[in-house]
This record gives sequence, C-alpha cells and structure tokens, in this order.
Amino acid sequence: MKKIGVLTSGGDAPGMNAAVRAVVRKSIFHDMEVFGIYNGYQGLMEGNIKKMELGSVGDIIQRGGTILYSARSEEFKTEEGQQAAIKQLKKFGIEGLIVIGGDGSFRGAEKLTKKGYPCIGVPGTIDNDIPGTDFTIGFDTALNTIIDAIDKIRDTATSHERTYVVEVMGRNAGDLALWAGLADGAESILIPEKPDDFKSVVDKLVRGQERGKKHSIIILAEGVGSGFDYGHRIEEATKMETRVTILGHIQRGGSPTGFDRVLASRLGAKAVDLLLEGKAGRVVGIQKNELVDHDIVEILTHSHEINMDMYRLSNELSI
Ligand code: ADP
Repeated sequence: MKKIGVLTSGGDAPGMNAAVRAVVRKSIFHDMEVFGIYNGYQGLMEGNIKKMELGSVGDIIQRGGTILYSARSEEFKTEEGQQAAIKQLKKFGIEGLIVIGGDGSFRGAEKLTKKGYPCIGVPGTIDNDIPGTDFTIGFDTALNTIIDAIDKIRDTATSHERTYVVEVMGRNAGDLALWAGLADGAESILIPEKPDDFKSVVDKLVRGQERGKKHSIIILAEGVGSGFDYGHRIEEATKMETRVTILGHIQRGGSPTGFDRVLASRLGAKAVDLLLEGKAGRVVGIQKNELVDHDIVEILTHSHEINMDMYRLSNELSI
C-alpha cells in the first residue's frame, strides 16, 4: 500500500488531532503518501482532499476538535453517495482509509471495505461507547472537564446548602456519568444502563440531610432524561432547594489530556500498521494496556458494556 487517506467523522472528540498526527507521521515514516480528507464522508464524496506533509500536522497534538473538520452526511449512507466517494478515492489513487470516529462512522467504513476499499476504524468519541476497547479517544478529557465543572459546582452547592443535578453527555452509555460520579463522590449516578430508582435517590438525599450534609450532587446521563425534569421531581419529593446544570458542549472541547494524547498516538499508528499488513475492516482498540484490533462487523453487532462493579462501588461509597 502506497497511498492512504485519513478522515474524522461524527461527533468530534479531544485527541482526534493527535490521532491524525500519528496517522500522517507514521505513514510518512513508512514512505507512504497520506491524504487528509476534510469534512468526513461529505468531503470524501466532494473530493475535499489534500496531501499531508510532516508539517501539516505540526502544533496540533495539544489541540481539541479536529483540523480535518467533521460532518454528518446522510447522502453517504446511500449507494450513490458511496459510489461518489469511491470515484474520488480512485481519482486520488487512495488504496486504504483510516476513519477516526464513532460507531456511525464505522458503519460507513464497513460499507467501503465491502466495496473493496480497506478501512480501519479508530474509536474517537467522548462517550466511551465502542466495544472492543477499554477506552475511546476523548473520554478521559471529557471526564476531566466534567470533574473540573463539578468541583466548582460543589463549592457553591456547599455555600448554599443545595442539591445539584448535573446532566452530562451519554445518550446510550453512562460511562461519563459513572466515572465522574465516582471521581466526584456524587450521591447518586443515573445511567441509561440501569433503570431509574427514584425512591432510593430520594431516600439517600433525606438520610444525608438528617445527618447534617450540606449539599448533594446527582449526576445524570442525558440518555436517562431531562436534567431539569429530574431536578423538579427531586425538589418536589425532598422539599430541598434543587438546582440543575446541563454541562452541554463544553464536554466536547478543550486540550486533550496526556492520557488521550498517548492513546490517540498509539491507536493512530496501529491503524497504519494494520493497513501495511494488508488488513481490512478492523477497528483498533486498547485492552489491558495492549493494542488490539477486532473485526468491524463484530464491533458493530456488539454493544459496549458498562462496568457494573464500578456502579455498585459508587453506591457503596455514597451510602
Ligand atoms: P459517530 O461516528 O460519532 O457515531 P454518526 O452516527 O453521526 O457519528 O455517523 C457519522 C457519519 O457516518 C454519518 O453522518 C454518515 O455519513 C456515516 N454513516 C453512519 N451510518 C452509516 C451507514 N449505515 N452507512 C453508511 N454510512 C454511515
């Protein structure tokens, strides 16, 4: 393989740039030409493609977002869209593709692989919701952004003796809520994987109040429902002053943590290695600190499992 392409797709995540840098530098290290595809699959269909040099990825390892930009493309889901993409790949002589993104992006990669264009997926999403890897690129940075925000909320919660409901990202996966909850000593953590037990949340708040607790923090993953609605219900049930904070898109941004930069560098480089070995339709990951790769179809047909031991631990530590 002499010419490969790299794109970022779907929701952006801090560390995507570090992954792009690793792909570009590792490809050039192996004497390959590497092309940056801008705006995800949309840019691929439109031929928004530029050859990358060593300097194209200088000074980006520390930057959040993605210098290749990201886009969502409905058109690429169609046969015509995929044919348009293949036309561009042929035009530029690109023989293989590295796709940095989440499971939606991997579905696109699987389609291209089936049509004869070997793709390798690199899991980049703050949600940590990709099976076959312990961590996805961006999760650690988003987690630390949440921790920083909740530490600040805690200061004001204590001063005013309030209950705070903090809504964090995670439509289907509760990892951010769970890890942030453990890291912040939250009273309750509400995740999509575990049905809502409103009564035990309320009982815990009341017990805390009875023993003189000054504040309580409840972390709710967005997939569970609206933080505002939950806050109202809590206030009605406990008669405690309750405030709600929706952290929103600040969780997506910021400079990646050391962990995410290293993870992204390792996974990006591993993806290049796989293409060089002639592999196709694989997704890279990290398990027990070892780099691994799995069949893309296997990844798409399994779902990520949250660590229920950690969930139980959080309950034990917040009695
Ligand atoms: P993420 O990769 O973060 O899960 P999306 O689900 O939005 O993000 O997917 C990103 C893009 O991947 C979509 O906009 C679309 O272009 C492409 N994609 C998603 N599903 C498919 C599919 N079934 N077939 C082809 N392309 C797809």
